[in-house]
Amino acid sequence: MVLLQIAEPGAGPEPNTQRKVAVGIDLGTTNSLIAHFDGASLQVLQDGSGNPSLPSVVYFGASDVRIGQAAMAQASAEPANTIASAKRMLGRARGEFEDDPYVTLAPGDTLAFATAAGAKTPVEVAAAILAALRERAEPQLDAPISGAVITVPAYFDDAQRQATRQAAELAGIKVLRLLNEPTAAAVAYGLDEQAEESSVLAVYDLGGGTFDISLLRMRKGIFEVLATGGDSALGGDDFDRALADHILAELALANPSSTQRRKALQSARDAKEALTEQESVTLDVSDLAEALSEITIDRSVLESLIAPFIERTLHACRETLADAEVAAVDRVVLVGGSTRTPAVRQAVAECFGLEPLCSLDPDQVVAMGAARQADILVGNRAGDEALLLDVIPLSLGLETYGGLVERIIDRNSTIPVARAQEFTTARDGQTGLIVHVVQGERERVEDCRSLAQFELKGIPPMVAGAARIEVTFRVDADGILEVTALEQETGARSDVVVKPAFGLSEGQITEMLKAGYEHAGEDMQARKLGEAQVEAEGLLAGLRAALAKDGDLLSDAELRDLEQNAAALEAVMAGNQPEAIRDATESLGRATETFAARRMDRSIQAALQGVAITDLESDQEQGDGR
Ligand code: ADP
Ligand code: MG
Repeated sequence: MVLLQIAEPGAGPEPNTQRKVAVGIDLGTTNSLIAHFDGASLQVLQDGSGNPSLPSVVYFGASDVRIGQAAMAQASAEPANTIASAKRMLGRARGEFEDDPYVTLAPGDTLAFATAAGAKTPVEVAAAILAALRERAEPQLDAPISGAVITVPAYFDDAQRQATRQAAELAGIKVLRLLNEPTAAAVAYGLDEQAEESSVLAVYDLGGGTFDISLLRMRKGIFEVLATGGDSALGGDDFDRALADHILAELALANPSSTQRRKALQSARDAKEALTEQESVTLDVSDLAEALSEITIDRSVLESLIAPFIERTLHACRETLADAEVAAVDRVVLVGGSTRTPAVRQAVAECFGLEPLCSLDPDQVVAMGAARQADILVGNRAGDEALLLDVIPLSLGLETYGGLVERIIDRNSTIPVARAQEFTTARDGQTGLIVHVVQGERERVEDCRSLAQFELKGIPPMVAGAARIEVTFRVDADGILEVTALEQETGARSDVVVKPAFGLSEGQITEMLKAGYEHAGEDMQARKLGEAQVEAEGLLAGLRAALAKDGDLLSDAELRDLEQNAAALEAVMAGNQPEAIRDATESLGRATETFAARRMDRSIQAALQGVAITDLESDQEQGDGR
């Protein structure tokens, strides 16, 4: 007997020994990188002139698109067509940037830049950068890329992660996984493979325009994000501006033109980077001012100019440590080009009382870790499934009757995670249900952030409280939330993948958490009040319906007594005393007991009569037949 090998038409038998080519991509605010791990060595891929970093800048001209250095060269001539730092706008709403002096928005409802090539969304800008990286890598690796791990800040929310995925799709890149940047840095140092039982790691990431501090816990190769903090408007660019102001002051240029300002900024950046290696630097300023041809800047001058910014990062570190209730960390990893500055390294070492890990290039470490993870995920290292776990930054829940939040997944739950809970209808005969998904730590819907709303239809009409609707929240490994509502009786089903209208910055997350703690007492009160009001409303509605139907069972005096009790309840319901509402609800409940008993008697009688009539009828029929 001959065994035939069956292959898809045209595909041919695939040799299973072939390594799949997967890459890691650090899609940065200032610079982006692409790296490859071939199982033995790690390689950060460079451009034609030996540059590993691709500036995250895209120029959309009338007739061509340029990316990176070539785009930056257009910045001064055509600022509106040259888009930088688009990452901070990924997955955000237009409203957040309407007053931003640095962006020219295209008309319309969506967040898009007005360029000579038409309206371009932040997703399209990111896609252009990703496509350029792919085009850089494929010829060097001599193979098409079969998948990529793309890194995102740990605080990126669902919308921001979705937008990153969309950008990759547009660039023709299959996303194996979105990986948190600090986790990627830890992986690059091989900390996921260390023997220690458990340790806490701080990742200090100071880039061009952003500062992120993340605390990770590692337990037997599993990472968990304990807390994130930082400042989305603090980075090396601030160092540049401070030094540029100093240069302009030295040159006695009190009112510099925008060209002079730009030149000073470029000189400042060059000087700052040179001062990382040298104790002092001499700048040629002949094209900036007539008075002087060159000035010398000492490292100590730069250090005193940037000290306040460094102090702000340390403040954020201390806050994040306190927030996570972490007293000490076992390791600190430096990430981001600005951590090359010696003063930054020193300050971080003093703050944590530890010599930080910095043997890997801080600009490249994130891309390196992503490349390692990509190699595992693409299936090149079978049986070596490193699990990378992250947590969700804010609790997820849904709106219940009375504007209250029922929490389904608690903040800091490790993802992926799925939780289900059963809900029911609030009104008799209710056939639809609005599922309103919210995010936050507060008890009232109005104080939380609304993520999505969808309707479950086709609930069979039943009395209030009889329907059983199971709502499931599922957060996948990328942090994307899917909510499903399922009516148990009919199997009616409805779901939504959450694509919130705008994202949250880490600052906003901190704000929401703070508000949650600060208002905890007040929120409990609000919750009690809401619950008491819902109960009271239910009783009043039931009573009104019963009176309309069986009011004749009561004497005038009894009716008056009930009405007085109901009016008393209505009066306290308008107030904000949950105890008073509960007391009034209870006394109205007691007052209705006799009425309820009589109604019960009447319905039993009616039922018995019903039985009797049919029985009689059938007896008669039988009798007739006899
Ligand atoms: P991002 O993560 O925001 O994309 P990077 O990690 O690439 O940013 O960091 C960019 C910043 O690092 C810029 O402000 C740049 O000036 C700064 N930088 C790069 N090299 C050096 C250096 N040798 N010394 C000091 N700062 C540097
Ligand atoms: Mg970065």
